[in-house]
Amino acid sequence: MPNPGLVLIFNCGSSTLKFAVLNPFSGEEHLSGQADALGSSGAVLKWRHDGEDHVRQLSPSDDFESVMGGLVDKLDGPWSDLKTRLVAIGHRVVHGGEQFADSVLIDQEVLVAIRSCCELAPLHNPAALQGIQVALIAFPQLPQIAVFDTAFHQGMPDYAYLYALPYRLYREHHIRRYGMHGSSHRYIAERAAELQGKPITETNVISAHLGNGASVAAIKGGQSVDTSMGLTPLEGLVMGSRCGDLDPGLLLHLGEALDYSLAELEQLLNRESGLFGLSELSNDCRELEEAMENGHKGARLALEVFCYRLAKYIAAYSIPLRRVSALAFTGGIGENSAWVRHRTIHWLSALGYQINRERNEATRFGAEGLISKAGTVDIFVIPTREDWVIARDAARLASGER
Ligand code: ADP
Repeated sequence: MPNPGLVLIFNCGSSTLKFAVLNPFSGEEHLSGQADALGSSGAVLKWRHDGEDHVRQLSPSDDFESVMGGLVDKLDGPWSDLKTRLVAIGHRVVHGGEQFADSVLIDQEVLVAIRSCCELAPLHNPAALQGIQVALIAFPQLPQIAVFDTAFHQGMPDYAYLYALPYRLYREHHIRRYGMHGSSHRYIAERAAELQGKPITETNVISAHLGNGASVAAIKGGQSVDTSMGLTPLEGLVMGSRCGDLDPGLLLHLGEALDYSLAELEQLLNRESGLFGLSELSNDCRELEEAMENGHKGARLALEVFCYRLAKYIAAYSIPLRRVSALAFTGGIGENSAWVRHRTIHWLSALGYQINRERNEATRFGAEGLISKAGTVDIFVIPTREDWVIARDAARLASGER
């Protein structure tokens, strides 16, 4: 194959910046890195280049601009072999509202549209915009592409995306369910089809992306028809420190009877709930499993609530899919926790899901494969590759393909 060119990927969160350089065709990673806790005394930059790991402490004054500036300097200097091969830059953007049903080449109009989605993702979209602005200045010669977490779910039918609120809130304020983790769910559906040896149009896949944030998607013939996250990433599953589904009346009760302010509610629902809040120990699944093995009751309870909620969502997605061809687990928990997978599938036996214990235990730590019993619904573990999806979209759009 001729030199295919490489794609530089940026994923800017509220206090983290991830970057990678990938071959969009093979998925091979030439560089990857992550700056964490930006703006604090614990800020740190880790990166892997040519198979070697590096770490550097950052100062609290370091921000996206200085970290990206450092990366640009490296690409102009010791990593110039990578820079000369770059054909595009791909940016992960969390919220594309109703304006983006696919990835897009960034121009002024697109920037305005992304800015208009900031009120739907106030923590995430401004950070992505900042990253795009820096990259536009640093790499003026390269096409830049935005890949939206919400885009994959834009084809959901109205009966799946509407809340039963006054319709004017949708009409006037775009209040509806959007869903997230789109790049991951898209990759999982494509990979599950490949593993089943079927055209994607003939598959009905349930994808369970279980990381610190977690969501499930029902994917019919390659199109998302329902997903568990909503207007924001709070809806749906139990997550590391997010509550997922709640009785909305509970918020009124907390405000009226217990005097919670909006800021306190934000903190409670996003940072103090989920696995962390239930266990009173940790938001980290691995730590909770260890604690559970040592008899910690809160850890067991948190994990039980997590699996039960997940199983209910998987069961519910038999409705839009009718006949499920595969269920796939991904994300840090989905790829590694044999316990969570086993416990979740235990609830689903009446629907034809059964787990093969040995395969379930063996398929962890980056392994991919089938973990169901022969003759039952296929259950896969598939390590997700969101970066690769972004790289592929960026290369496709940069080459002028739509
Ligand atoms: P993020 O959403 O931040 O990208 P990840 O996809 O990295 O999160 O998932 C993080 C979660 O995966 C944590 O709860 C972590 O404990 C869990 N995890 C990672 N490895 C294991 C493991 N070996 N066993 C159980 N859980 C694990």
